[in-house]
Amino acid sequence: MKLVRRAQWGAPATSAASPISRTRGVKVHYLGTAYASRAHGTCDDKVRDIRSSHLNHPTEDYSDIAYNLLVCEHGYVYEGRGAGRRTGANGSSTLNSAHYAVCALLGSSGLTKPTPAMLHGIRDAIEYLRERGAAGTEIKGHRDGFATTCPGPELYAWVKRGAPLAQVLD
Ligand SMILES: [Zn+2]
Ligand SMILES: [Zn+2]
Repeated sequence: MKLVRRAQWGAPATSAASPISRTRGVKVHYLGTAYASRAHGTCDDKVRDIRSSHLNHPTEDYSDIAYNLLVCEHGYVYEGRGAGRRTGANGSSTLNSAHYAVCALLGSSGLTKPTPAMLHGIRDAIEYLRERGAAGTEIKGHRDGFATTCPGPELYAWVKRGAPLAQVLD
């Protein structure tokens, strides 16, 4: 697993988000905005931008980047709030307590098709949350139980098939 710790991408080493002991599983997200494929050297710039936009959100009172983990097109897993912290991304406090949140750096235009490396990274992220954060077995999309198109058609179709690793290895 290609894990990039918070301190490595420029966030305070420990998240200020509320602790959580376990969840039923993981919800998969995407950016839902225009996003172009980029060189890996600039992926951490995007993660910092996301954290900054969350901290400066006009209505949400975010204490930190909302996602637990983020995955780039190159398969690197960025530590957001991390394991054992309650996400702020699933849409309500009930939904945030039920599942962790993993966000793919994937757009609604531009880069819209997840790469095999990205799918591998998402599986790595889910495994990590199971081992370190007592995530249960459920793998769902943000749209399951909340009115949104997130995580987009391509990623959601993969999630609905059970996030198969075999698909990645084809
Ligand atoms: Zn989402
Ligand atoms: Zn990358």
